[in-house]
Amino acid sequence: LVSRKKKAEDTVITVKGVEFGGKNPILIAGPCSVESYEQVRAVAENHAKRGLRTLRGGAYKPRTSPYDFQGLGEEGLQILKRIGDEFNLVTISEIVTPADLEMATKYIDVIQIGARNMQNFELLKAAGRVNKPILLKRGLSATIEEFIYAAEYILSEGNSQVMLCERGIRTYEKATRNTLDISAVPLLKQETHLPVFVDVTHSTGRRDLLLPCAKAGFAVGSDGIMVEVHPDPDVALSDAKQQLNIPQFNEFVDELLASGLYK
Ligand code: PEP
Ligand code: MN
Repeated sequence: LVSRKKKAEDTVITVKGVEFGGKNPILIAGPCSVESYEQVRAVAENHAKRGLRTLRGGAYKPRTSPYDFQGLGEEGLQILKRIGDEFNLVTISEIVTPADLEMATKYIDVIQIGARNMQNFELLKAAGRVNKPILLKRGLSATIEEFIYAAEYILSEGNSQVMLCERGIRTYEKATRNTLDISAVPLLKQETHLPVFVDVTHSTGRRDLLLPCAKAGFAVGSDGIMVEVHPDPDVALSDAKQQLNIPQFNEFVDELLASGLYK
């Protein structure tokens, strides 16, 4: 069902008037974790000023250590709902268990399935039965074929509103957090009709590489970029090292605009 051979034209997913996979590339930006109303609001206010429409923020955080901040849970989704309504933003947040999917549809506009759950087949099947777009991230060590089959799980249950996100894969390279597989973008665009995004934050794990990798993503045909921005990254409860602060984020957007790759 995801194959270009079955459907030649691009899938465009429209949410609150924002077209994912449409003519205009999209920036999906926001903090790694939802930490408080004020924290998310500061980012959203800047989005509104800049004309950006898509806000991400994690409420259920899949952390490596059980002692790290695990997210605000439903309260985090409620914060996103309130701010999404206030600023007319499309909200995206990760859900990690089938039991929370229905509840989440009350609060957020797009459900993210994270890298660690890309092959959580019960979660994929359940995501196929909700009436919300799904942003599916590539697994830490998933092949393109496995990634495409994971998306197929969602479509096979009836939900055709799926977008894919390359977020770097595990290799022997230690200079970056993961290795951004830029070739995944044109490959996924050729093989499937789904919108394809590049997460520059989790793939590189490095602030200094966000802009060149975002440009690369657009240059190879990505429908948009995901990037993390936090009002005060130094005190962020997750991913403190690679999130941009708001002035840095605005510079990032300005540079992308100046490059002509993003408008
Ligand atoms: C995220 O986007 O918040 C996240 C945890 O990313 P990933 O699943 O790609 O690691
Ligand atoms: Mn993060």
